[in-house]
Amino acid sequence: MKKYVVLVGVVALIISACSQTPNPGPEQDVVYKNLDTTANPGKDFFLYANGGWIKNNPIPAAYSSWGIGNLVTEEIRNQLKKINEDALKAQAEKGSNTQKIGDFYASGMDSAKIEKQGLAPLKAQFEQIDQIKDVAGLLNVIAAFQKMGVGSFINTGVYQDAKNSEKIALHLWQGGIGLPNRDYYFNTDKKTSDIRKDYAEVHLPTMLKLSGLTENDAKTAAKAVYEIEKSLASQSRKLEDLRDPYANYNKMAISQLDALSPTIKWSPLFTKMNIKKVDSVIVGQPEFYKEVDRLLKNRPIADWKAYLRWNLISSFASYLNKDIDNENFRFYGKVISGKKEQLPRWKRVLDTENGLMGEVLGQLFVKEYFPAKTKKRYEKLVEAIRETYAERIQKLDWMSAATKQKALDKLKKITPKVGYPDKWKDFSSLEINRDSYVGNIIRANQFWYQYQINKLGKPVDRTEWDMTPQTYNAYYNPSNNEIVLPAAIFTIPGMRDEEVDDAVVYGYAGASTIGHEITHGFDDQGRQYDAEGNLKNWWTKADEQKFNQGAEMMVKQFNDYVVLDSMHVNGKATLGENIADLGGIVLGYEAFKKTEQYKSGKKINGLTPQQRYFLGYALGWLGSQRDERLANQILTDVHSPADLRVNGPFANLPEFYEAFGIKQGDAMWRPEQLRVKIW
Ligand SMILES: [Zn+2]
Repeated sequence: MKKYVVLVGVVALIISACSQTPNPGPEQDVVYKNLDTTANPGKDFFLYANGGWIKNNPIPAAYSSWGIGNLVTEEIRNQLKKINEDALKAQAEKGSNTQKIGDFYASGMDSAKIEKQGLAPLKAQFEQIDQIKDVAGLLNVIAAFQKMGVGSFINTGVYQDAKNSEKIALHLWQGGIGLPNRDYYFNTDKKTSDIRKDYAEVHLPTMLKLSGLTENDAKTAAKAVYEIEKSLASQSRKLEDLRDPYANYNKMAISQLDALSPTIKWSPLFTKMNIKKVDSVIVGQPEFYKEVDRLLKNRPIADWKAYLRWNLISSFASYLNKDIDNENFRFYGKVISGKKEQLPRWKRVLDTENGLMGEVLGQLFVKEYFPAKTKKRYEKLVEAIRETYAERIQKLDWMSAATKQKALDKLKKITPKVGYPDKWKDFSSLEINRDSYVGNIIRANQFWYQYQINKLGKPVDRTEWDMTPQTYNAYYNPSNNEIVLPAAIFTIPGMRDEEVDDAVVYGYAGASTIGHEITHGFDDQGRQYDAEGNLKNWWTKADEQKFNQGAEMMVKQFNDYVVLDSMHVNGKATLGENIADLGGIVLGYEAFKKTEQYKSGKKINGLTPQQRYFLGYALGWLGSQRDERLANQILTDVHSPADLRVNGPFANLPEFYEAFGIKQGDAMWRPEQLRVKIW
């Protein structure tokens, strides 16, 4: 994925490559106006490119970061708000999309009703927990909770079999913990230890008390929950270890799964979870399910009731009454992400609605803001990048002819999905009303659960999108060998088509989005899948070795970056994204060289076309983030921090050195033998 956050909404203006190069004044120049001209591009290019904007745009209290993605999202939210308010007033037919949007929004905005209802909408679920007597009873409740989106140590996924992209498979993955990932339970630095202490001693007992337990019972329950989670975390894999597609592929017959965790009777459990047509399961981390079994044998049933109680209240905390909502925000919003205050309610309701019914809003959005003409323009840019990639592969000095042929075949077969899906998801079976906000969320979760389960045993639908058009993000899916580029990702906030020159468009959209996503098909992970989307080696031994040498250099380069005094970037975990960033920049630049603007060499506001290209790429990472959020990113995210997504790859490029006169002795300069060159 391109960005580290999934952002949502509707866009006002779309940018694209234009035939005539515009010549904006300094105030209207989308790259010039962000510069910090007091910064030295050879010392910290990110600061030079974006520092002016960052100085003038401090992070608002309700955000953990603030940058270009937020600006796009704010525009989108305002559009969505209008769509929702119109739906709210419309006397829409029951069951229509307009009725669903309007009623969802109404139920979420009615904070008086939410306050009055308290935990009443979850009464049946709390009773189910109270009645658990044994492991069989526990698993029954877990099955029921799964269907409504309440997580636990059973973590299923329904998607393509990595080794047979024609088949949909049931997956079991590690999960079931409340801190962002396993490292939070074990790392010994002060930041992480403080978060852990707060979680165990404040957040868990407070939430359990708010779920209706006495203070003492809540303390005992919190201790049990923490111990269970710590055990689960101890047998969970690290971020970098989850990126090995072979190690996380363990196909098992149900009988093997029964042998792995004999305390769980898997077939009856799956039946209760509405999963019927499976005879095998792909287990990501078998050791995790072994640990689950050990815990089920050893922990008293009271501990599991506490664990389910916690998962239930935590799953719905943002949609419940103020006390619960606030404590949930205090921990996940403030302590973990560094936010100072909550977003206004309407923004939160819209974000939730967008997450649950995004394609309903997306249909309305693209009709108005992403015309066929714009879609076509970006489809053309995709082909320009693809063509350039083919030329580069042919010229690679480290790859054999045999592997080149396979790489070119894979490149040719990449399916680009641009803007929005051809076919929209059908929400007709989803019921939304104004009775209860949590009730709507539960029914929407059930809808999505069943939507996924229904895929089992059916042919793969390769037209499906996993992001909505109004999402400021993009992805490569190895099983479909496809790049998916939602309409919103091409937006530059507040700008119109004719105001942006090719240099910026090729850097912003061509490199940081299109080139980046295509390169994912050939990063350390993506390259292991063939043209048909199957995990199958198509490389010669020697070529694989040479690729790995380049990759190793990149791991080292990023491991050496230290942030927040003592945390270093995880070079292994971020490798795929770093390769995609570097590849995207190289491809975007080569493609840009074919344009009129590049050939003309004409300066705009004193900046050459080459300079504007690199600034256009840096524009994609415009913004800043709080320390808390940065620390969280280092531990949980496969993307490097934004400044290093600019400075890291640029430091490998002679074209960048040439554009800005970078010389030996500059901080951005790296000796030639250390410069990473892969694609
Ligand atoms: Zn990516």
